[in-house]
Amino acid sequence: MGTVELDGVGKSFGEVEVLRDIRLDIAEGEFCVLVGPSGCGKSTLLRLIAGLEEVSAGRIRIAGRDVTALESYDRGLSMVFQSYALYPHMSVRENIAFALETARLPRAEVARKVAEAARMLRLEPLLDRRPSDLSGGQRQRVAIGRSIVREPAAFLFDEPLSNLDASLRAETRIELAALHRKLGTTMIYVTHDQVEAMTLADRIVVLNAGRIEQVGPPADLYERPATEFVATFLGAPS
Ligand code: ADP
Ligand code: MG
Repeated sequence: MGTVELDGVGKSFGEVEVLRDIRLDIAEGEFCVLVGPSGCGKSTLLRLIAGLEEVSAGRIRIAGRDVTALESYDRGLSMVFQSYALYPHMSVRENIAFALETARLPRAEVARKVAEAARMLRLEPLLDRRPSDLSGGQRQRVAIGRSIVREPAAFLFDEPLSNLDASLRAETRIELAALHRKLGTTMIYVTHDQVEAMTLADRIVVLNAGRIEQVGPPADLYERPATEFVATFLGAPS
């Protein structure tokens, strides 16, 4: 079960309130895309869900379990950043397997999971290479592979394609959509790219200045923007 429920979530840094009363229920298997202008709180919201930052208000439930007070590692999520953060001295195989280090699995089980992730992401020919020998797109796939093996309840992506050039971004976007279909895992995905949002999302959440402006399927937001802000932001006819 991979539901993610945000119940009145708020966050302040000192005096500055950056997120306010965020209420959102993300369904099992949903591809939920967060959009909004720079500084509106997208990354902070992901970090709160991931447990990399503490909420100032509200509760977070994952798979029906209240995780608000849990450490990041115990939330059973996986976060993929725009910077790949791979270990340069390890091979692709070792980078992916390292994500399972703390799970204390038998070696054969680790090898099986790594092989399965490599197959799914077409990384098999690259398993013995170092990250420095890979392209940006390949490194991003390794980072995703490292997440997959942990079989998270949900994946969190913070602008994962923003470092890629346009053609690679399009290619990787299509791969991500295919991966989501294969895995069926809940995904929460931050982007400032309209095309990514429109093509990947089951639902788009539009954030503005720390609050939710509108939530809905891409076509609904495009055809029936609730506010001027949403219309302008999505570039929809108003
Ligand atoms: P986005 O990802 O939508 O661009 P962020 O979530 O990164 O926005 O930031 C939202 C706001 O919170 C910004 O004004 C940012 O400066 C502020 N902020 C983010 N992290 C911190 C922090 N650790 N300390 C203080 N302010 C922060
Ligand atoms: Mg951000």
